[in-house]
Amino acid sequence: MPAIDPICGMTVEESKAAVIYNYKGTIYYFCNIRCKEKFEKDAEAALEKGSGVKLQ
Ligand SMILES: [Zn+2]
Repeated sequence: MPAIDPICGMTVEESKAAVIYNYKGTIYYFCNIRCKEKFEKDAEAALEKGSGVKLQ
């Protein structure tokens, strides 16, 4: 089941994710290291913005 990159909204295959990041017990998959860095900087804002975007 592909995951959604919470920063850019892209579909990311779990096996092909550039970065896998565990935040507060939830695992997020990122297409690119930059997306993960952005997320890390301001995870709360990123999650709020993408409130429609959740892991499947
Ligand atoms: Zn991305």
